[in-house]
Amino acid sequence: MKTFELKRQVPIDSSYDLVVCGGGPAGCSAAIAAARLGGKVLLIEATGCLGGMGSSGLVTAFDPMANGEVALVRGIMGEIVQRVHDRGFTGPQVTPDFWSKNYHCWTPFNAEGYKLILDELCAEAGIEVRFFTRLIDVDVTGQHVNGVMLNNIEGHRYVPAKTFVDATGDAVLTHLCGAACREAGRDTDHIMPPTLCSVMSNIHWQKAQSDLSRTGPDEQQKYLNQAVDDGFFSHTDRHLPGLFKISPTMAALNGGHMFHTNALNCKSLSDGMVRGRQLAQEYLAFYRKYVPGCENMEHATTASLMGIRESRRIVGEYELNVNDYLARRQFPDQIGVFNKAIDIHVYDDSPEQYARFCEEYGSRGRLNAGECFGIPYGILVPKGWQNLWVAGRCVSSDVQVHGSIRVQPAASMMGQAAGTAAMQSIRNDEVACELNTAVLIEQLRKDHAYLPQSDLSPTMTRG
Ligand SMILES: Cc1cc2nc3c(=O)[nH]c(=O)nc-3n(C[C@H](O)[C@H](O)[C@H](O)COP(=O)(O)OP(=O)(O)OC[C@H]3O[C@@H](n4cnc5c(N)ncnc54)[C@H](O)[C@@H]3O)c2cc1C
Repeated sequence: MKTFELKRQVPIDSSYDLVVCGGGPAGCSAAIAAARLGGKVLLIEATGCLGGMGSSGLVTAFDPMANGEVALVRGIMGEIVQRVHDRGFTGPQVTPDFWSKNYHCWTPFNAEGYKLILDELCAEAGIEVRFFTRLIDVDVTGQHVNGVMLNNIEGHRYVPAKTFVDATGDAVLTHLCGAACREAGRDTDHIMPPTLCSVMSNIHWQKAQSDLSRTGPDEQQKYLNQAVDDGFFSHTDRHLPGLFKISPTMAALNGGHMFHTNALNCKSLSDGMVRGRQLAQEYLAFYRKYVPGCENMEHATTASLMGIRESRRIVGEYELNVNDYLARRQFPDQIGVFNKAIDIHVYDDSPEQYARFCEEYGSRGRLNAGECFGIPYGILVPKGWQNLWVAGRCVSSDVQVHGSIRVQPAASMMGQAAGTAAMQSIRNDEVACELNTAVLIEQLRKDHAYLPQSDLSPTMTRG
């Protein structure tokens, strides 16, 4: 590709302790944790609201946060869900057991309420939030980030800071820094397909007799198979859509796959949005025709962000792998524990892919009730970097573990740890890749994270 050299003088903004790029669950939790510890924090977000996939992507259910015995995900994420529930923004069927006790249980919520709660929590913590602001470049020296280049309606701005958290989901900041990342489709044979989610309304839940996403999967699979056999859809995707009850008449639909769409290619992403809107209409027609209680379903809207499941993963100080997961490994430096099954959606609509998915998600890749695996600190730190942390969907893991930890509660735990670590590094003059992890764990415990490991270590697990 030909290149063009851009030279211009750019205004320099005020300096911050921490700049967080991306306002999804990882970024919000990082910013809140750091601000509550006294940091001067800037949180930038490309869209006009916080929540990331949970709001702009209409992925309106929190994945399992407990393991049937204890609440594994507490801290800031526990606080967010509690407040969303207290204010009446969870589905009408939801009780606190959904997130604090139940095994393999999703907590559906209303995206508008979630946005509001995140606005409030960030304001209360004293975070400066800038919407419609995109990270476009970086200024680095060696493995130290000096500042980021942002763009919004005011033009370009250079923002210096002491520390940075990449919570963009796509590792945009880390990639711009030149740190090593793995890319789905380039470094792997497959890309887990995205989904353009929707909100549906006018559902007669009593007639449907169940929350179609959780208690009625066999029924729903039967309807779906019938429709596919009838040639109703433009593709033969037998993957069960999720229809989450978010109000007495509304549901969030997580249905349809854009096979082979590459989130790191703008044309592919753009074509995917067009295809996603077509598929949403097909699912609407499917529900109306085949599923009791949905005869009068209305399509309220598709999401403004494509629901990306997989794009980049950083190469971190540690790479969490499937053997760790299957061994239920606990780490001295774990910053969270989790129980979510490995959930790698079908890569295409072949029977082999459905067999693979059912085997993995239904049994081999699922931990039992009462169990958990640890998420170690080292997966947040790009190898050798001094003042840069990554949190959320793009941390350092293999593809299989990514299939578990890519979800909102895990992203939030990682964000809380990254924001806390950033403040510790400033206070104690420690770099990210040599941080005292025993001190970090003690602070996270004070801030209500559930970290059951008995032995702590001042040095992180590497490998
Ligand atoms: C279809 C689908 C269904 C899912 N279902 C569930 C579910 O039921 N439950 C669950 O818990 N999880 C689910 N997930 C996973 C989950 O929603 C995401 O993986 C999770 O939100 C990741 O959090 P994050 O903070 O890392 O990134 P995101 O939520 O993706 O947030 C990243 C934010 O960064 C912003 N951003 C990106 N680039 C820039 C830039 N250059 N400058 C400024 N801002 C930028 C984006 O606008 C976005 O707001 C699902 C995901 C998908 C795609």
